[in-house]
Order: sequence, then C-alpha cells, then structure tokens
Amino acid sequence: MRLSDRQISFLPGSRAEGQIAYLLVGVVSLIALGAVLERYVFSAVSAPVEHSIGGRIALVASIALLSLGCFFMLRRRAIRAFASTQTLAYYDSLTSLPNRQLFAERLEWALSSARRHGRLVAVGFLDLDGFKRVNDTLGHSVGDRLLCEVAGRLANCVRLSDSIGRVPPDAAEAAVSRLGGDEFTFVLHEISKSQDAEVVARRVLDALRQPILLDGHELVVTASLGIAVFPNDGDRAKVLLRNADTAMYCAKDLGRDSYQFYNESMNAAARRKLELEKRIRGALERGEFSLLYQPIREATSGRLSGAEALLRWEDPDTGPVSAEEFIPIAEETGLIIALGEWVLRTACAQCRSWQDAGFRAFRVAVNLSDRQLVPETPEMVRRILEENGLSADRLELEITESAILHADQRAVDVFDQLSDMGVGLALDDFGTGYSSLNYLRLYPIGRVKIDHSLVNGISTNPDDAALTLAIIAMAHSLFLEVVAEGVETLDHANFLTESGCEELQGYLFSPPIPADEFTRFLEREKPA
Ligand code: C2E
Ligand code: MG
Ligand code: MG
Repeated sequence: MRLSDRQISFLPGSRAEGQIAYLLVGVVSLIALGAVLERYVFSAVSAPVEHSIGGRIALVASIALLSLGCFFMLRRRAIRAFASTQTLAYYDSLTSLPNRQLFAERLEWALSSARRHGRLVAVGFLDLDGFKRVNDTLGHSVGDRLLCEVAGRLANCVRLSDSIGRVPPDAAEAAVSRLGGDEFTFVLHEISKSQDAEVVARRVLDALRQPILLDGHELVVTASLGIAVFPNDGDRAKVLLRNADTAMYCAKDLGRDSYQFYNESMNAAARRKLELEKRIRGALERGEFSLLYQPIREATSGRLSGAEALLRWEDPDTGPVSAEEFIPIAEETGLIIALGEWVLRTACAQCRSWQDAGFRAFRVAVNLSDRQLVPETPEMVRRILEENGLSADRLELEITESAILHADQRAVDVFDQLSDMGVGLALDDFGTGYSSLNYLRLYPIGRVKIDHSLVNGISTNPDDAALTLAIIAMAHSLFLEVVAEGVETLDHANFLTESGCEELQGYLFSPPIPADEFTRFLEREKPA
C-alpha cells in the first residue's frame, strides 16, 4: 500500500525534515556551483583556489551541508519505508482510512482532551445493512468499491460536523475508521451535548441512502448506527466502542436503517441473547429439541391431508422456551442451519415410519427459515429424502413472505431446484405483510397459508373477513390452494369452507401434538 503525503504527515517530524533536506541540498548545490565558478573561471583572473580562504570555507561547508542533507534525505526515506510497514498496521488497505488500532489511539487522545475541557465525545459504530448480499450477488469487486464510496461519504459527513465540536486540524479525516468488513466507526470530538451527535447520525444515514452507481447497478445502501457518548457510556475507548457496537445491534434489531444511542438496558438484552445462543447450541448437542405435529384437514371432507412439524425446546432448567423466542436467535446466529436440518431429518423419518405403518398418505410440512435459502439446501433436502426413502411429494416446505420479498437470484434458484425435485412450497403466515399475491406468479409456490391473526378476526371484524375472501379469490385465480391457520371455532371453519378455502388447521381440530399421540390420532382416522 502506498502512503499518501497526508498520512506521512501524521508521522512525527517527517514533513519538516523533508523540507530541511531539500533546502540543504539546494544550498549545497549553490555553494558547489560557486566553488566551481571560483576554481575554473575566477581563478583564471585572480588567485588560485587553494590560496583562497573563501574557497576552503566553501569546500568544508559544502561537505558538511551535503552530509547533513544526505542524512535528512536518508532519514526521510527510512521514515517512508518504516511508515509503509506501519501503514499496514495503522491504515486499512482498501479505503486508506485509519484502522481499529489507530482509531483507538486517537480516541484515547480525544478522551483525554475532552476530560481537560469538560466536554463530551461521541463514538459512532456503523454497519451496512445487507452488505453480504451485495458481495454475494454482484461480486467482491463491486463490494469493495461500495465500501470505498461509503468511506468517502462517511468522512465527508464527519468533516462537515467540524462546526459542532472542537475538531483539531486533520482530525476530521482521522476521525473516521474502518474496523473491517462493512464496519466503520467515527468520533465526534468535544461536542457540547448528545443531540449534536444525533444531527451527524441523521446526516450519515441520509448520505448513505443516496443511490450509488457501480458497474451500471444503482445500489441503495442503508446502515445501522450505534452511538455511545463519553463520559456517560464509558470513559475508555474500548468500553465506548463496545457500547456503540451494542447500540448498533439494537438499531439492527429495530428494523435497520436507523441509529440508536446506547443505554444500560441494551447490555442486559445483549447478554440475554448471548446466553440464549449458548443454551441453544448446548440443547442441540444434548438433544433437548423435539417436534410436535399439528393436523391439517381438508375443509369439505374433514379428511387429514397433512401435518405441520413444529419445533419445541424443553430446557431442563427453565422449562419450555417458546419458538418465537429461540428461533429468531437461532436464525441470527446461523444455528438455524443445523437446527433446520435436524427438524427436516426428524420429520422425514417420522413420515416414513407412518408410511411404513400403513396409514393413508399425507404430506408433512416443515418450516424453512429465510437463512436456509442457501445453495446447499436443495442437496440437503434431496439427501434426507433419499436416506428415508421418502418420495418428494410427501414433503412441503413452508417459507415466509419476507423470504419471497427479499428473494435474490440465489433464493430463487433454491425455490426452483426444490420445486423441480417435486417438493411442495407453501407461503406461510400470509396476510401479515404486504399481502400482495401478485409477486407469487414469479415463484413455484403451490399453496398459501392465511395467518391466524387474520382468521381470528373473521367472525368479529368485517375487514378481516373481506380481506380473507379477497385472498382466497386471488389465490384461486393464480391456481394456488389455500390453507387457513389458527382455525379455533366452528364459525371460522364454516366461513372458510363456504368461501372455498381448501384446508384448515387449528385448535378446533387439534393443537400441535407429539408424534406418538399423532399416531393414535391416525389410528382413529379411517384406514388407508
Ligand atoms: P407457523 O409456521 O405459522 O406455525 C403455526 C403456529 O400457530 C404454531 O405456533 C402453532 O402452535 C400455532 N397455532 C396452531 N393452531 C393455532 C390456533 O388455532 N390458534 C393460534 N392462535 N395459534 C395456533 P408455534 O409452534 O409457537 O410456532 C411459531 C412459529 O415458529 C411458527 O409459525 C414458525 O414460523 C416458527 N417455527 C416453528 N417450528 C419451526 C421450525 O422447525 N423451523 C422454523 N424455521 N420455524 C419454525
Ligand atoms: Mg408454518
Ligand atoms: Mg403460519
């Protein structure tokens, strides 16, 4: 990495020494020229040079100054060479911004100055939203250029904030750093109130939101930003950075493209999350997870047509942990990949054992998380079906509306491969999000499941009833079948059946039950 003159100038004394060296070389050249003129031109008309005192002084002075000049030049070269290696240690090679180490040193310096002046210092921790997707879909070179553009915009915003704090010369540029990946930090020096940081936070998020044109792609980048303020949120650089990081995660959790100021309760929440993550990992190893199965019935005949596998976790210390609590954490930490594979293997093995016991064929529905829409999934599904000798049409995978809305080419390939294999795809919890079925035409979805929150309102809320009717009609016009979830009363069941909904699932028929109970349930059903 080449060092810019601006970066070299951060190194002690190097700029002044460079100037002295050039000055001395200039002076030496002039003296040498004088000596040559005296020796060969003036000596011809006056006394020879060896007799001239001026000539001797000039010679000695030239040698001394030349040595001094060479010394400074060599020293400057050495500093440059040393700086190049130091740059690797202090600057990020992609964006040329200071790295974590230099940032921490500068932050410590800013803190001691703020302590002396009794002022505040704000630390911002910024992480791009969905940067991985850019890298995965458009390639690393576009990703790299995007990071450089972000670095520039960020430095600009912080430079513009000079007016709100006491920013020392050159500090605005050094006040922004890249920690690595898509993580950036910045420091606002000696501000007088935390609202000043809020102004910059808004400016940063606005600046990043402006479209970036790269390789003919117009990219809109958003970021999540956490802010910690000295001295309230910590009095050391390390603590402030950690707390700003925690606040950034909180901003991500709250929907991204936003900023959050750190507060104490965030740490408690982050600790709980970390704790839960550890427990999930252990629970998977200790086999504390199990599956329940909830029957799905044909609306008109009442016959069993499917069973949805639902994950349960019984923690020996704290008792049952709700799926809504641990699944988002498993998704966030990537543990859902291993957990999802376990669910699929267990459900398929169970389906095979019901098939072997001679029960009439019905499908098993398994929930698939957005995080499982990776190229490895179709192969994993194929392997598990094969292991269990199960035909693909016995399996249906339930995906969420957000998976469809955010589907990139990679996810679409996963849907297509699964569908080509013969595995059914159903859209889960429909009616809670954008409620547009139009985009479903683009994907090989065969079934839509109306969310229980909508079903719940059909007998009390005319709007819910109207929306449910519209969803059924629209789904049918796209040749999709409809399952209603959360059917709890006969009123629900009658309304949905009359409206043409094909299948019903809910407490009216049965809550989710363990496999052996489900087997007894099957035994009571008509035989194959
Ligand atoms: P879901 O896939 O929509 O599952 C249906 C949820 O509705 C289940 O909640 C079920 O117990 C509940 N339910 C069933 N009948 C009724 C009813 O009549 N009324 C009401 N109010 N609720 C009913 P559960 O088991 O707590 O699961 C919650 C969510 O967790 C699931 O929603 C699904 O999104 C997720 N989940 C469960 N198991 C898995 C899994 O193995 N993998 C993944 N990725 N997600 C899972
Ligand atoms: Mg489901
Ligand atoms: Mg659902």
